[in-house]
Amino acid sequence: MPSPELIHAPNLVRLRWLVHGFSTRTGGFSTVYAPAEVPADTPADVPADAPQDGPQTADSQKRIANEHAHRGSDRVPRPISAWAGSPPQVAPQGPEKPSDLNLGFTDHDRPATVRRNREAFLTSLGATRPATLSATRGKPSQPWPLITLRQVHSDLIHTIDRKTAKQFAESATATRKSPRLVGDGLITNVPGIVLAVQAADCLPIILVDPKHHAIGVFHAGWRGTLKRIAAKGAGRMMAAYGTRFNDLRVVIGPGIGSCCYNVGEEVQEKFESQFPWAGQVIQEVEDEEGLHHKYPMLFLNQRAPGHAPMITKLMLNLAEANRLQLLDLGVNPSDIYVVPNCTSCNPSRFFSHRAAFGRTGRLMGAVALRP
Ligand SMILES: [Zn+2]
Repeated sequence: MPSPELIHAPNLVRLRWLVHGFSTRTGGFSTVYAPAEVPADTPADVPADAPQDGPQTADSQKRIANEHAHRGSDRVPRPISAWAGSPPQVAPQGPEKPSDLNLGFTDHDRPATVRRNREAFLTSLGATRPATLSATRGKPSQPWPLITLRQVHSDLIHTIDRKTAKQFAESATATRKSPRLVGDGLITNVPGIVLAVQAADCLPIILVDPKHHAIGVFHAGWRGTLKRIAAKGAGRMMAAYGTRFNDLRVVIGPGIGSCCYNVGEEVQEKFESQFPWAGQVIQEVEDEEGLHHKYPMLFLNQRAPGHAPMITKLMLNLAEANRLQLLDLGVNPSDIYVVPNCTSCNPSRFFSHRAAFGRTGRLMGAVALRP
């Protein structure tokens, strides 16, 4: 029986009335996703819950593919000379296939496997009914109802009450076609219901109001961040439950870091039009791989210092953009915890849409009030 590896936030673990966590790849039943496999010539499809940064050229895809082939999960820049002749790193394919905790009903995975993974995740979260209530089913415990979304990179937020919880709780035979609310945020104050978002590079964000025992979970890629999904979620919690922003505790879950999140100029322009601190979250850095790709001959010769052509790329710090939005609202800096790992730097531990060129599973960020 696999045991899911979960990430818990230090600012929430002491709340005994709360259950929360972020999944990793570890501890599931899925065998369809190989950790560091690089389908270099496969164009990446972009599912709704993956970050999008506008059109990618075949060139840039191939470039990223090469980068990953050479680096594997190790994203520490290496000198160019070390690349020459080094064989691509491919995931070790032993007799045992890797098994992942894929929590999304993706195209590749079997729905029954995803449902087993979800049950394992909820069980290890502690989101289960006491054994006595479900003893007749022959199971030690039964997970609490789970609410997920059809995520569309929006700022749509749903308030879950007992009625909607009953209506949209994941069934025992759920598939990707099962009816779900469309949106990217869920809030509730009803105990015993697990609210969850899925991600593979985008951020899962959890908000908790310890005064009113109200919770929310949000999915934020660059589009959702631009639309202020988490800040709007806090506003919806204020309207529905009387939440005060300076009481909120926030956890920004594992997502793609500024080390890997290369975005286009159109994204930069949009952020600059919305946020006075855009310059703090989108930074222009020298693009060594871009240079290598554009001028391959350059690296065969000695390069005179100061005479090299400069190619730059824009890197977005999605977590910081969300943190700054919440600080703008009045959330205390010490109440915001950012999970430090970059999904794209650690594709063997996390699902990463970028690192896997679209063919990957989904992590979950989940939160619930103990009944
Ligand atoms: Zn990274």
